[in-house]
Amino acid sequence: MGKQEDFVLRALEERDVRFVRLWFTDVLGFLKSVAVAPAELEGAFAEGIGFDGSAIEGFARVYESDMLAMPDPSTFQILPWRGEGPSTARMFCDIVMPDGSPSYADPRFVLKRTLGRAAEKGFTFYTHPEIEFYLFRDSPEQGEEPVPVDRSGYFDHTAQSKGADFRREAITMLESMGISVEFSHHEGGPGQQEIDLRYADALSTADNIMTFRTVIREVALGQGIWASFMPKPFTTHPGSGMHTHVSLFEGDQNAFYEAGAEYQLSRTGRQFIAGILHHAAEISVVTNQWVNSYKRMMFGGEAPSYVCWGHNNRSAMVRVPMYKPNKGQSTRVELRTIDAACNPYLAYAVVLAAGMRGIEEGLELPREAEDDVWSLTERERTSLGIEPLPKSLNEAIEIAERSELLAETLGEHVFDFFLRNKRAEWDEYRGQVSAFERDRMLPVL
Ligand code: GLN
Ligand code: MG
Ligand code: MG
Ligand code: MG
Repeated sequence: MGKQEDFVLRALEERDVRFVRLWFTDVLGFLKSVAVAPAELEGAFAEGIGFDGSAIEGFARVYESDMLAMPDPSTFQILPWRGEGPSTARMFCDIVMPDGSPSYADPRFVLKRTLGRAAEKGFTFYTHPEIEFYLFRDSPEQGEEPVPVDRSGYFDHTAQSKGADFRREAITMLESMGISVEFSHHEGGPGQQEIDLRYADALSTADNIMTFRTVIREVALGQGIWASFMPKPFTTHPGSGMHTHVSLFEGDQNAFYEAGAEYQLSRTGRQFIAGILHHAAEISVVTNQWVNSYKRMMFGGEAPSYVCWGHNNRSAMVRVPMYKPNKGQSTRVELRTIDAACNPYLAYAVVLAAGMRGIEEGLELPREAEDDVWSLTERERTSLGIEPLPKSLNEAIEIAERSELLAETLGEHVFDFFLRNKRAEWDEYRGQVSAFERDRMLPVL
C-alpha cells in the first residue's frame, strides 16, 4: 500500500466517512458512480471494484463485460454538499480489465495515453477552461421553453441577483474541494453564467470539470433552480461554450513563449495552433458532440463558425490572448470551439493530439484573420482561405469517419463506439418532425 492510499484510509476514519463514491466517466461524458463502504477500500486499492461494463455507455459488449474500477487515491475528496453528520467522499477511478490491463473504453485512459505520448516528446499539457452554463427557474418540462432565472447580461452586476448568489455558493463549494476558481461573471444570455477554473495539467482539469458539473447541479437543486450545460438552449440567445486556454510546458518553461517573437509566441506555439487548425474539422465531432452543439456555432454570439486564428479576435476559432510583457510563463492560446457538454477527457485528448501533429510535422501557421470573419462574404472568406467548421453533427461525423488522427487518438474501440452512437443520434434527429415545420407548413400547405 502506497503513501497516498494510507492517507486515504486514515482520512476515512478521521473524517467519519460512511460512503466512498467511486467516480468514472462513460464515453459520452456522463459521470458514473458506485458507492462502497469504507471497509472495502483497502481491497479496492489492491484489486479494484468489479462492475458490469456492458451496462455503461460505450464500455463493452455483453460477452466481455467484467471490468474493475481502480480508485486513484490522489483524487480523494470529501463531498461538501451532504451537510452535517457522517461524510461522503469520492475518488476518480481508472478502469481496468480483469487481467489488469487498462480498459481501452475508459476516457480517462484515452487522455492519459495521449498525455503520455506528449510526455515522450518532453511536453506537459496545461489547460484553463472557461465554463458557461444557464440557470433556469425550474427543472425542464417536455416541450416547454425554459425560463432563465434573470434578465441580466454580460458582466452585469445587479443587486440581489440570483446569479451572483448562485456563483458565490458554487465557488465556495468548489474551493472547499480544492478546485481553484479564477474568474466568474454573468454571461451574455439571460440567466447565463461563466466560471473559469485556474489552469492545471489536463488530467486534473478534466477531473475538475466532471466535479464542476456535479457541484453546479447540486448547488442549483439546493437553491430550487436548474443548471444546464446544453450548448444552445435558445435560438435567440448565445450558447454555452467551454473555451479552453492551452499551453505546453517543457520542464518548468512555457514552450509557447519566446521573448521578442510576435505575440511572444514561439515556433512550437505556432505549430501547435497550425495542427489544431489543420485537424479542426476532424476533431469537431468530439469537441462538439451533440446535434445541438452545431446550433451554437452558426449565429455568431462569439462562438466560432470558421477555421482560423487571430489575435484578440473573438470571431476566430483560436485566439492568441493579449499578453503581458515579462509574463512569458502565461503565454497560451484560447480554443473557442469546445462546448460545455463535451466529454472533457476525450476533448482534451484530441486537441492535444492535433496540436502535437502540428509540431511533429512542422506545420506552418496560415495568415492571421484580422477581421470579424462573420461579417465577411463567403467569397472574401474563400479568397482568404478560411474554411467553415462542420455545420451539423452529420457533417462532423462524415469527416471524422475518415480521420486517421481520431482513430489513433481515441483507439479503435472508442472510435467505433463513438461514431456509431453519434450516427444513431443524427438518424433519430433527422427523422423528427419539428414545431418549426408544423408552424411553417400547416397554415399554408
Ligand atoms: N457564449 C459564447 C460561446 O458560446 C462565448 C462568449 C464569450 O465568452 N465571450 O462560445
Ligand atoms: Mg471568459
Ligand atoms: Mg464567456
Ligand atoms: Mg473566452
